[in-house]
Amino acid sequence: MMDGNEATALVAHKTNEVIAIYPITPSSNMGEHADAYSAAGQTNVWGTVPTVCEMQSEGGASGAVHGALTTGALTTTFTASQGLLLMIPNMFKIAGELTATVFHVSARSIACQALSIFGDHSDVMATRQTGFALLASNSVQEAHDMALIAQAATLESRVPFIHFFDGFRTSHEVNKIEILSDETIREMIDDNLVFEHRARGLNPDRPSMRGTAQNPDVYFQGRETVNPFYEKTPAIVLKAMKKFAKLTGREYSLFEYVGDPKAERIIVAMGSGAETIHEVVEYLNAKGEKVGLVKARLYRPFSAEHLVKAFPKTTKSIAVLDRTKEPGCAGEPLYIDVRNSIGEALENKAAPFTHWPKIVGGRYGLGSKDFTPNQVLAVFENLNQDKPKNHFTVGIVDDVSKTHLELGESVETGDPKTFSAMFYGLGSDGTVGANKDAIKVIGDHTKNNAQGYFVYDSKKSGSMTISHLRFGEKQLRCPYLVSHANFVACHNFSFVEKYDMLKNLKTGGTFLLETEYSKDEIWDKLPLETQQRLIDKKAKFYVINAIKLAESVGLGNRINLFMQTCFFEISKILPRDEYMKYLKEAAKKTYGRKGEEIVKMNWKAIDMAVENLFEVKVPAKATAKTKLKAAMVLKSAPKLVKDVLEPILAGKGDDITVGQMPLDGTYPTGTSQYEKRNVGIYMPAWDIETCIQCGMCALVCPHAAIRTKVYDPKLATKAPKTFKTCKAKGFKEDLGFTVQVAPEDCTGCGACVSICPAFQKDASGKKLETKAINLVHKDETMRVNEAENWDFFLNKIPDPDRALINLNTIKGTQYVKPLIEFSGACAGCGETAYIKLVTQICGDRLMIANATGCS
Ligand code: SF4
Ligand code: SF4
Repeated sequence: MMDGNEATALVAHKTNEVIAIYPITPSSNMGEHADAYSAAGQTNVWGTVPTVCEMQSEGGASGAVHGALTTGALTTTFTASQGLLLMIPNMFKIAGELTATVFHVSARSIACQALSIFGDHSDVMATRQTGFALLASNSVQEAHDMALIAQAATLESRVPFIHFFDGFRTSHEVNKIEILSDETIREMIDDNLVFEHRARGLNPDRPSMRGTAQNPDVYFQGRETVNPFYEKTPAIVLKAMKKFAKLTGREYSLFEYVGDPKAERIIVAMGSGAETIHEVVEYLNAKGEKVGLVKARLYRPFSAEHLVKAFPKTTKSIAVLDRTKEPGCAGEPLYIDVRNSIGEALENKAAPFTHWPKIVGGRYGLGSKDFTPNQVLAVFENLNQDKPKNHFTVGIVDDVSKTHLELGESVETGDPKTFSAMFYGLGSDGTVGANKDAIKVIGDHTKNNAQGYFVYDSKKSGSMTISHLRFGEKQLRCPYLVSHANFVACHNFSFVEKYDMLKNLKTGGTFLLETEYSKDEIWDKLPLETQQRLIDKKAKFYVINAIKLAESVGLGNRINLFMQTCFFEISKILPRDEYMKYLKEAAKKTYGRKGEEIVKMNWKAIDMAVENLFEVKVPAKATAKTKLKAAMVLKSAPKLVKDVLEPILAGKGDDITVGQMPLDGTYPTGTSQYEKRNVGIYMPAWDIETCIQCGMCALVCPHAAIRTKVYDPKLATKAPKTFKTCKAKGFKEDLGFTVQVAPEDCTGCGACVSICPAFQKDASGKKLETKAINLVHKDETMRVNEAENWDFFLNKIPDPDRALINLNTIKGTQYVKPLIEFSGACAGCGETAYIKLVTQICGDRLMIANATGCS
C-alpha cells in the first residue's frame, strides 16, 4: 500500500544517479522519499546511492538536471504547476540536445485568477512545445509502472519524458499495488543504452562543444534534425510496454480501448478521470448499452495512427475530455489532436470508419473538481443527442456562457459489495494518519483491494479533513470521492452542528460520533436534520468520548487510535485480536521514534476503545429543537460573502455557479471575520489576579483571537455578566483592562499560554505550573458566554487612539487593532503573528509581498 508519489519515487530512485529537487505541492513527497532513501543508504539498481540535491528553486533544479545530464549522469527531478513552468527554459535545451531523462510530475493547476494547489493538466499542457514526450498514468499502479516504462523509453529514444499523473487524486491516493522487483527494473533498462547516454556526456577525454549559437542560415535546419527521433518514439514506448507486460503481466498501450467492441459512443480521456469512465463504461455495457473509452497514455509524440486504430468501426460519436483550459482556443489540446487525427485518417482512408463521427470536446475536473460517475453519464447522454453540445463543461453550473451539461442523480456504478467509509477529522488531530494505517492494515492483511484518499482544506492544520476509504475484492476503479458510504465517523462534535454529514450514508449504514455526551444524552444534542437522517437511513449509531479517554492516558487530543479501533470493531473487517495486533504494530511503526512511552500510550488507547464504545438506540421520531447552523456568517456580511463565501464555508462550494464568482479573483478584504470555525476543543481562560498585563499572549496568537484593550472603565458597566475587567497598569488615567478571547476563532493551540510569563503561586508563595492564562476545556456554556463577551469587547469598546499608544513596547502594540485578523493559518503558526504585528506597528500604509505556501 502506497500513494502515487511514493510509487513513482521508488522507481525514479532505482533508475537514476542524480536527483535535483525543489519542493512544490503535490510533488514534494517524491523528493522527500528520494532524499530519505539516499539518506538511508539505499542504492539504485546499479549499486550506487543517488545524489539528491535540493536547489533554490525549480529553475535551479532543472538547471542542475541539465548540467548533470550533460555530463552523462542519469538524472531526474520531480515537480508540478508553476514549478514545472519555471523548468521550461531548461526543458527546451534538454530536448533540443536529445538528452534522455524523465521528469515526474504530479500534475497541478496553474495559479490564474487564484492559486490552487490541486490537480489538473494545465501545467503539463503548458510544456507541449518543449519537445518532451508526455506519458500519462491513470492510477497509483500505473504511476509505478509508467515511471519505469518512461525511463526505458527515454534511454532508447533520446527524447526526454515528462511522466505525469493527477496531483492529489493519484499522487496522494493510497492504493494496493504490486511493487516492481529490482530484477524487473534491471531487465527493463538496457545497460548498453546507459553506456551510450554516458558516452554522449561532455567529457575532457572526448572533447566536444554543445550549446552553440546558430544564425538564420542554419537554425531552422538544425531544428528539424530531431524529427526521426520523435517519429520512432511511439514505437519505442510500445516496445517498452510490451516488454514490461512480459515481465509483469500488466499490459498497457499508447491508446487503450475499453468497452463494447461494437460501441457507438466513445469518450477519449487521459489521467485518473479515465478510470472513472472505465467503471461507468462497464456499468453501462452491463445494462446493455454500447459505449467505450479510449485511454490516452502517450500524449506526445502524438501517434495519430495508434489513436485512430483504437476506435471500433462502429463509432458514431466521440467526446474528448480535457482536464485543462486554454482561454480563447479553438478547442482544448487533446480534443484538437483527436479531431485532427481523425480528419487526416479519413482523408487517407486509414480510419476504421468511413464517415465523420460527431466529435465534441469538453472540460472537466479543473483544480481537482471531483469527476464523478454521474458526470460521465452526462457526457454519454450528450453524445446521444442529434446535436451534442460542443466545448462543454461538466461538473459545474455555468450560468454565464451556458457551457455545462446537466447532471442526473448521483449513481453508484462500482461493485455494490465494495465497502466505503468517510471519516471527518480535524487537521493535525491524527485522523488522516490513522486512516492511512487502517487502509494499509486492510490492504496488507486481507485479500481486499484497498484505496484511501484524504481531502484537506488548503488551511491544513485546524480545518476539516475527510478521509475516504474503500475496500473490496474487485479492482477499484473509483478515483472519486465516496458518496455512498457504509460507514461515517465524525471525530469532532462541532462538525455535527454545521454539516449534513449523513447525507452520504447508505441506508442501513453506521454512524460513529466522538462526543462528550453519553449514549443517553446524545440524542437531544443532535440537530434535527441529523436525527432525521439517522431515522430515514435506518442507521446504526455509536458514540465514544475519545477526548476524555485520550486525556486520561496522556494523549491530549490525539483521539485517532480510539476512533480507528472503533471502526475496526464495528466494521468487523478483521477479528478483534487480529486487528488489534495490526493496529499496535502500525502504532509502533508510527510512534516508535518518539519513544517507548508514547507507543505504550497508543497501545493503551487501542485496548480501551472497545469497552468505551456505546451503541445509541435511534428513536422513531426526530425531536431536536435545534437545526444545523445554516448561516456561518454574520447577518451584516456583504453580499459576496453571503453568496460565495458562506456556501464555501458550509461545504457547498460545488453548488456555486460561474456567475456568482468574482470575474478576476478580486474579493473584499476582512472576510475571515465572518468565518466562525469553532474548531478548538480547548480555549484559554484568563486569571486577572496573576496577569501582569504584558500583552505577550496577544502578540503570539496566530489568529488574532486573543486581544488586550484599555478603555474608559465606565464602559464595563454595560458588559455581559461574565465579562472580566480590571484596572489597567502603567497608565496615569484610571482605565479598564481586559484580555479577551474569541472562542469561535481560537484554535486552542496554546501558543498564548506557553508564552505567558506570569505564573500563579500557592498560598506560601511557591510558583505553580499554572499561569495567568490557561487552557481549559471549551464547553457549550463557555462558548456562548465568551462569544457574547467577545462581541461586547470588539464592538462596544472602542480601539484606543493610536497616537496615545506607545508602539515601542509589546504591550503598546497589542492595544492596536491588527489589520490581519482571524487568519486560517495552522494552529500555532509562527508566521502570521509577525505579519499581524507589522500591521499593528505600521497601520494601513503598508505593502506585504509574499510567495505562496507558508513563506
Ligand atoms: S490558544 Fe492559540 S488560537 Fe487560541 S487565543 Fe491562544 S494563541 Fe490564539
Ligand atoms: S501573557 Fe499572561 S501576563 Fe501577559 S497579558 Fe497575557 S495573560 Fe497577562
